[in-house]
Amino acid sequence: MIAEEIHRITQALPAGVRLVAVSKYHPAEAIREAYAAGQRVFGESHAQELQAKHTGLSDLEGLEWHFIGHLQTNKVKYIAPYVHLVHAVDSHRLLAEIDKQAKKVGRVIPCLLQLHVAEEETKFGFTPDEARDYLEAGAWRQLSGVRIAGVMCMATNTDDTARIRSDFRRARCFFEEARRDFFPADDHFRELSMGMTDDWHIAIDEGSTLIRIGTQIFGQRQY
Ligand SMILES: *Cc1c(COP(=O)(O)O)cnc(C)c1O
Repeated sequence: MIAEEIHRITQALPAGVRLVAVSKYHPAEAIREAYAAGQRVFGESHAQELQAKHTGLSDLEGLEWHFIGHLQTNKVKYIAPYVHLVHAVDSHRLLAEIDKQAKKVGRVIPCLLQLHVAEEETKFGFTPDEARDYLEAGAWRQLSGVRIAGVMCMATNTDDTARIRSDFRRARCFFEEARRDFFPADDHFRELSMGMTDDWHIAIDEGSTLIRIGTQIFGQRQY
């Protein structure tokens, strides 16, 4: 089942788009099954759970752990030694903490800015205007332990595919604009993380480079 879904998805991916298998709330054995099917990139959204899985699966070579959820500053230190990409940076305070913890362990951690483009009210994420102001202000340029590698977003939770498409399109526009204005000579700014189980086909249409899929691969979350 898990292997089948992974193959089904990866076969549908255009060149340049990668799958993040979202394994949160699923046991380590499910990750082993996905790994055996060739999957290497996994997404988790709780620091303690990621920590436990990182330890329990340390025998698997070439695993890439992505932190996809809201990250609390006091949890950064636990994942800084090995996290491959932090998807949802929503404040300078968080980026500065990742920078600090990255330097402690001699790393540069790639991070994505979380964009708020959905209709729902949420306290997480920069609106495109806020993100532009933040990049413009430039404090992030002083942080040598992190690298802004792109943006991530979630679309409105709705059946209205036109709305979903327009959310993704706004994120894509911001991504292109930011690349042009703030990262013109920087190959590292290249990731547009968007698309989940119910909307990843639309996300790919709209230029996603990283899709984050949980339920379609692993089924309903277990605990
Ligand atoms: C849980 C989660 C996903 C995966 O969602 P599914 O609908 O199960 O594919 C993707 N992105 C984020 C940020 C998540 O928290």
